[in-house]
Amino acid sequence: MEIMALSYQSTRGGQQGVSASRAILQGLAADGGLFMPTEIPRLEVSLEQLASMTYQETACEVMRLFLTDYTEEELKQCIARAYDSKFDTEEIAPLVKAGGIYYLELFHGRTIAFKDMALSILPHLMTVAAKKNQVDKEIVILTATSGDTGKAAMAGFADVPGTRIIVFYPKNGVSPVQELQMRTQRGENTSVVAIRGNFDDAQSGVKKLFSDEEFNRVLEERGFQFSSANSINIGRLIPQVVYYVYAYAKLLENREITAGEIINVAVPTGNFGNILAAYFAKQMGLPIGKLICASNDNKVLYDFFVTGTYDRNRDFILTNSPSMDILISSNLERLIYLSAGCDARLNARLMEELSADGKYTVTEEMKKNMQDFRGGFADWKEDAGEIRRVFEDYGYLMDTHTGVASAVGRRYAAESGDPAKIVVAATASPYKFARSVMEALSGSREEADEFQLIDEMSSLSGVPVPQAVEEIRSAPVRHHRECGRDEMKAEVADILGIR
Ligand SMILES: *Cc1c(COP(=O)(O)O)cnc(C)c1O
Repeated sequence: MEIMALSYQSTRGGQQGVSASRAILQGLAADGGLFMPTEIPRLEVSLEQLASMTYQETACEVMRLFLTDYTEEELKQCIARAYDSKFDTEEIAPLVKAGGIYYLELFHGRTIAFKDMALSILPHLMTVAAKKNQVDKEIVILTATSGDTGKAAMAGFADVPGTRIIVFYPKNGVSPVQELQMRTQRGENTSVVAIRGNFDDAQSGVKKLFSDEEFNRVLEERGFQFSSANSINIGRLIPQVVYYVYAYAKLLENREITAGEIINVAVPTGNFGNILAAYFAKQMGLPIGKLICASNDNKVLYDFFVTGTYDRNRDFILTNSPSMDILISSNLERLIYLSAGCDARLNARLMEELSADGKYTVTEEMKKNMQDFRGGFADWKEDAGEIRRVFEDYGYLMDTHTGVASAVGRRYAAESGDPAKIVVAATASPYKFARSVMEALSGSREEADEFQLIDEMSSLSGVPVPQAVEEIRSAPVRHHRECGRDEMKAEVADILGIR
């Protein structure tokens, strides 16, 4: 079938008519906005047809509609290289039913968190894009991480010719396993920097470097060009749409639902990338009802969906679900833009207010356009209670992020009476957050060291310790960099040998 060419434009109006491959290469638009397709394409095959497809086939079917300047051959090759035996199951993203809820396990990739779903393919999409656009510069992937993106991005980009990757993570803001995973990363082109600040500081710093014209000019002279592996990159978002389509198709194949039946999704949310991908799937025609946006104590998104005011002026709380400890959810900008009827000027004004005052309020009309979303939050007590209850009653052990979404999803169903089945995005393996998960199960603070807890968890749950964790038990720490939040530019210059 002929596919209409899609182009991409900035949510702030400064760039238009950009091809998919260019948007992926660039990461962030030049005006600081995010790239959006001119329209969200509709699925071209029936749900019944999707039901019989493999993950890889589903990926091709979804991604070809968005990445229209990639040939089908190119896409198939990227997909085959990404979703292979790096994943520990052929299903890639299996669904597990426990206590009437479906857990879509997105943590079977190399770094045991859902970031692998997109970051396994992004390096391939980017190298194809570089060829297509005759890029002769070395691509420098600048990445801010709340713990999982950094490792997954480095695993994807390690030793990929023509690329370098620099990761900034909040010192004291990630779990011990997350930190060790990053600091033991191999690959001559990888660098890791701990910053004395939180995730928002890291993300704002990276965005600032992207739009630093002077610095970009110097880089260019030295043969470098920045790109991003964060979910601000459309090349991360599109592969994430795939698993929602796949999950629906598998429910259908297993006769858990009938074709066309509405399902709800509950997503543990931080930067708003994962749940936005579910919204894209809905816009493509997938029968999704409510998008349940689950937050931890950093409940800026919950407040936003209730009041229409986004206000980041509040304390940043370190929680046991650190990958969701975020007060500036970058991808929300894409929803704001859509709900404003793609009015880039209005969106740009709100984003200026956010950067000047730390807050903005959307119009009634925009709020109405976001009615598919329901905000909810769970504090540690509720999260831990959910983890314990689901394990004790159904034998299913989940991580602290998944626990938040599970608790919020269940509460939504009970309070609203909405009968739709719920798919929870299970975003990380419990082994990544062993101390907190064991604490949830025992109800008390754990004294044992991290790897002791990991072994205890394995004998308790009967789930073998994943390869990703075994690897770091004895791996040498290779990365020792640390800097203040205002020193990121100097750090990048030093890593790249620019002075
Ligand atoms: C990144 C992450 C999240 C948040 O996802 P967003 O796309 O940023 O909303 C949730 N859980 C885990 C385990 C993560 O790594």
